[in-house]
Amino acid sequence: MRSTLQGNGQANHRRYGDTLAFVKKPNDEGATPAKDEWSTRHSVLRSAQRTAALVNALSASSALGAEEPAPAANTVISTVEAVLREYGEKDPLDVSAADVTEMRAVAALLREVFAAADTDAAAARLNRLLADGCGPVRLTAHGGGTPWHIHLDGHDDAPWAEWFLASSCMALAVLVWDRQRPPGGLCASPSCANVYVTGGSGTPRRYCSPRCATRERVAGHRRAKERLTEGG
Ligand SMILES: [Zn+2]
Repeated sequence: MRSTLQGNGQANHRRYGDTLAFVKKPNDEGATPAKDEWSTRHSVLRSAQRTAALVNALSASSALGAEEPAPAANTVISTVEAVLREYGEKDPLDVSAADVTEMRAVAALLREVFAAADTDAAAARLNRLLADGCGPVRLTAHGGGTPWHIHLDGHDDAPWAEWFLASSCMALAVLVWDRQRPPGGLCASPSCANVYVTGGSGTPRRYCSPRCATRERVAGHRRAKERLTEGG
């Protein structure tokens, strides 16, 4: 099942944490909805993070140049399916080698949004992708299997690449709308080609992961020490 940002008929727009989420109202017993199902899995931020994870999974072999051997097609399929499962998509996923090829092309387009220097540039790139690659807004409940929610792909069984572009453009566009800043960026580590989604805290972010941040901090200390040694 390919879901995007889900809400339902009784859902209310609510600020949840640091992102705009579609949160189901508590039921009559006052029970709060399961966090995973309603506020975490389907939040705009989570959808945008899925986009970043897929861009990174699909770009792993090409973004850093020819030094890294390209992983086998089956490996890439497994990685992409693992990301989709991590973000709540249900089996059978049936991602094919052809799907991966098309999704790679979409990942390259989405990377340009993450690479945008400022909000205006990110918005302009998203507008181009929305106009060229996404359909009109439509509502779907996947035949009753989910609450009603919005899709920008052509139909519920659209190819993975079409779904990837449409769901990503929607999440990233809402983040720009909500925050009035670029939705993310490129990892500042010269040895990393990952993209990341900016968190909601307002703290500027430069690296895709704590791993990259730590590695670059250690390298920075080493360079500073070498300069001191040379200069002394
Ligand atoms: Zn990184």
